[in-house]
Amino acid sequence: MAIDLAKKRMRGLRAALRKAWMWYGQNRRDAADGARVNAHEWRCAACQKTFKRGDIEIDHPEPAGSLQTWDDLLPFVKRLFLQKCVALCEGCHQKKTNAENDERRARRGKK
Ligand SMILES: [Zn+2]
Repeated sequence: MAIDLAKKRMRGLRAALRKAWMWYGQNRRDAADGARVNAHEWRCAACQKTFKRGDIEIDHPEPAGSLQTWDDLLPFVKRLFLQKCVALCEGCHQKKTNAENDERRARRGKK
């Protein structure tokens, strides 16, 4: 029971930090600025096509990863807020996220 509560708290903290990054992540803004082609278009770093800002998502090349213990906190925050991010279109971002999830599942399955 105590473990479940701790897990729930860490999950909440992770969600809160991700939300903070959405608002305040300078690396997020830098990636969007870097991908900007003109006033109305942003370029996807994967397929190189251009999109409206609303169809561009900011990606962490190295996933921010898990936050399960207090020891994970500093590396998690560093990966989330300090690494250089890239702009991807929705389709490319989804593809990358799916690949990462498959890889994580495969790794977990091996244990
Ligand atoms: Zn793309």
